[in-house]
Amino acid sequence: MLEKVIIANRGEIALRILRACRELGIKTVAVHSTADYSLKHVLLADESVCIGPPQSAQSYLNMPAIISAAEVTDSVAIHPGYGFLSENADFAERVERSGFVFIGPRAETIRTMGDKVSAIRVMKQHDVPCVPGSDGPLGPEPDENFRIAREIGYPVIIKASGGGGGRGMRVVHSDAALLNAINVTQGEALAAFGNGQVYMEKFLERPRHIEFQVLADNHGNVIHLGERDCSMQRRHQKVIEEAPAPGITLRQRQQMGERCVAACRAVGYRSAGTLEFLYQDGEFYFIEMNTRIQVEHPVTELITGIDLVKAQLLIASGERLAYSQRDVQIRGHAIECRINAEDARTFMPSPGPVKLWHAPGGPGIRVDSHVYSGYNVPPYYDSLIAKIIAHGDTREAAIARMKNALAEMVIEGIRTNAALHQEIFNHAAFRNGGLDIHYLERRLGLK
Ligand code: ADP
Repeated sequence: MLEKVIIANRGEIALRILRACRELGIKTVAVHSTADYSLKHVLLADESVCIGPPQSAQSYLNMPAIISAAEVTDSVAIHPGYGFLSENADFAERVERSGFVFIGPRAETIRTMGDKVSAIRVMKQHDVPCVPGSDGPLGPEPDENFRIAREIGYPVIIKASGGGGGRGMRVVHSDAALLNAINVTQGEALAAFGNGQVYMEKFLERPRHIEFQVLADNHGNVIHLGERDCSMQRRHQKVIEEAPAPGITLRQRQQMGERCVAACRAVGYRSAGTLEFLYQDGEFYFIEMNTRIQVEHPVTELITGIDLVKAQLLIASGERLAYSQRDVQIRGHAIECRINAEDARTFMPSPGPVKLWHAPGGPGIRVDSHVYSGYNVPPYYDSLIAKIIAHGDTREAAIARMKNALAEMVIEGIRTNAALHQEIFNHAAFRNGGLDIHYLERRLGLK
């Protein structure tokens, strides 16, 4: 078993990792910026090391500082969480070269699957269905790009190969806007992701976002844990997630799950990962793979009873998966709400001191949050402050529990999007399930 782990992240996921480590008797080291001395997991960790000023580039993205923290504390492994350096192949490589275990896939797998163009290529080779598209990066030839767009059929979407977090995408409806959109997306992608490569896909008009969770060990064992529906989005960012996806049949789950497993086995995948699909008219289309733990992992944990973060730690220590595909049973339904420190109407961030925090509870409610009364939400990072996850025997039961939880939760001092969540659960359309990724923005009048 790993003796001591560096938690190279912050907020709720850092606390989640700390809890998993403690359950397994692993010592923890929190690395944090000067803005994060009072983070809950920093206070709880066995040791903590300040790695730089508030700006992420100088702290949570500062590879040498994190690796030297591992050295001075005699740690053996680094858990990157999500965001920050979690999908940075160079970081994974440097960690392993420095003699530590990277809790995630091998660097070369991250490189292949983290680049959307090369991930799509791999998926196609293994018969995983993809969105009709340019079959590789776009070149400089205008006529060739017009030809590709017409062949796919407008509307199309220009996407950055190295994109993430819902950024680096542009929808195009006609020839007139195509070349400019390619140029602008290339420029943005280069500035934001250090990689100007873009590709083209058919823009699906009313798809759902459905993703499959996989787990793989170092001994060639790969399983899938079913799917999640993450169609409630704003600006291509997930707001509510649930599992299983409403209306997806056992047969569909098995078929798609098996294909995901086969593709992961073929690339020698290791640790937890997610294959994301768009789903429209009964068909799945692969869009990208996330080679890390995801924000929405708890819904899968609640319906399968499998602790994904503990599984990551066990895999990293060389253990075999404790479950075979047959052991994975889906029980009931789970829903997660992302509570952000932001205005529910304008979506403007709302950092500042939390005067009062009262977490909801009761049967089937899980709260993953680093917030406490007196905690100060810093303005430098992602605005996610809590995840409320509800589990019930049925989707209806989970929704009823979630509505109770949202009504019970008290956060004073900062604004949150809790009211938006409450509103969504009162929509008859949401209660029916199976809404597309554009529903929320249409409903909010943003489209
Ligand atoms: P990111 O890495 O930024 O999360 P993704 O490729 O996963 O980017 O896409 C994020 C979201 O953007 C999807 O969940 C979906 O809402 C939208 N999207 C991406 N590709 C398409 C497409 N071809 N058609 C319609 N919507 C798309």
